[in-house]
Amino acid sequence: MTSYDFDIGIVGGGPAGSTAASYLTRAGLSCAVFESETFPRPHVGESLVPATTPVLEEIGALAVVEAAGFPRKYGAAWTSAVSSADRIPTLGHQMPSGFREASIRFSERDQDGVHQDYTYHVDRAKFDLLLLEHAKRCGAVVYQDSRARAVDFSGPYPRLRIATNGGDAREREVTVRMVVDASGRGTFLGNKLRLKVADPVFNQYAIHTWFDGLDRGALAVNKDQTDFIFIHFLPLIDTWVWQIPITDTITSVGVVTQKQRFAASKTERESFFWDCVGSRPELRKALEGAQRIRPFRSEGDYSYGMRQICGDGWLLVGDAARFVDPIFSSGVSVALNGARLASADIIAAAQAGDFGKPRFAPYEASMRRALRNWYEFISIYYRLNILFTAFVQDPRYRLDVLTMLQGSFYGEDEPAALIKMRALTRHIEDNPGHLWHRHLGSLRAPALQPLF
Ligand SMILES: Cc1cc2nc3c(=O)[nH]c(=O)nc-3n(C[C@H](O)[C@H](O)[C@H](O)COP(=O)(O)OP(=O)(O)OC[C@H]3O[C@@H](n4cnc5c(N)ncnc54)[C@H](O)[C@@H]3O)c2cc1C
Repeated sequence: MTSYDFDIGIVGGGPAGSTAASYLTRAGLSCAVFESETFPRPHVGESLVPATTPVLEEIGALAVVEAAGFPRKYGAAWTSAVSSADRIPTLGHQMPSGFREASIRFSERDQDGVHQDYTYHVDRAKFDLLLLEHAKRCGAVVYQDSRARAVDFSGPYPRLRIATNGGDAREREVTVRMVVDASGRGTFLGNKLRLKVADPVFNQYAIHTWFDGLDRGALAVNKDQTDFIFIHFLPLIDTWVWQIPITDTITSVGVVTQKQRFAASKTERESFFWDCVGSRPELRKALEGAQRIRPFRSEGDYSYGMRQICGDGWLLVGDAARFVDPIFSSGVSVALNGARLASADIIAAAQAGDFGKPRFAPYEASMRRALRNWYEFISIYYRLNILFTAFVQDPRYRLDVLTMLQGSFYGEDEPAALIKMRALTRHIEDNPGHLWHRHLGSLRAPALQPLF
């Protein structure tokens, strides 16, 4: 009889992989996690949304995360370069401070399964290690410095070829009943099975680093919000800056733009960073008053989808399935919730002794719905970001926008604010005389694109 080494082989030990491993081992399945790096390792993606909390709680990791002392994130704020003199017309409600700043607090809206009014900003080196160690405590066998190099689905069970990077670079074969690809932007199976499709609209690029001693309140209207994530709009098309607390004194700062804009600038990435932040002189001044404590890192080619996210004996989760743009800090939440939804199907498949593709239809349907909503929310933001800011400030839509910002995208219903934003965007696009028409951005997503 053919045998296997583990029920589930998980490729990648980031948040998606370790969360899936925790769920699956807690349900009694044997799991191996193959991680190519040795943790802790740095990683981009430091600001969480509250939809991560119920998942962390369910796998028993919330107390561990809380005990780690990551800065608490109580909300989000957006600042604009637009002065109150150049006030942009609103949806009919006067805004207290023009468009200089909009903000939300998570405490404004109760969220199912979330019993705290904050989430976290995390140093991903520590956070990812902590989740991987948690998976191990739950019973997963974790192999670090172990890269999945190949997979063979031709036999009765999938066989993974795993290479050790260090030492004598040995390769070995591991047989599993099912492969979960959580390899992030490494997109292990997406590449092997030729599933990956570049996003038709977004081709984003980011440059980021950490500063010590940044005055986080320099651009804040409300000085009691300095522990929020700040998104600073720049007076440059499709370009913005994140400001994320990492410790009491350390702050992560990144510029996000379109890759073509960086290429067209013909400058080094460091000069590009300073040129961009220089478009908000008060931001540049604040950054120059702080000390940069990490080299600049850049991230590119991260906007893509997959033709399929599951098949016979395999499934993609987290960034291995899809990523578009970090504007709403959705990545870790999608990774954790994807792992939650996928694990429910995998556990049922294991009980039925059938890992065929139809077993993962519920996961596929939920992710299709959630990712389509995220995609549209991101697209509308880039198409007309003043619309987003206006909705945040408008009492008629504020809580519904907050629902999305909390990451609650997994229900059956399409968020009402999204429906309204879509209709209004189309109306403004079709009416050149509309006061907001001149504020339309250059990125325009095809209405039905992409499925994943
Ligand atoms: C510029 C930028 C800013 C972002 N900001 C945010 C943010 O503020 N908040 C947020 O929530 N998200 C953010 N994200 C997204 C976030 O980084 C990801 O969505 C998140 O890390 C996904 O988790 P994951 O587990 O799917 O993948 P990862 O965290 O990338 O983990 C994948 C793991 O797989 C390993 N691996 C890869 N290939 C192999 C292989 N062949 N074999 C074995 N192991 C392998 C890698 O070493 C890695 O450890 C941002 C992304 C970008 C690009």
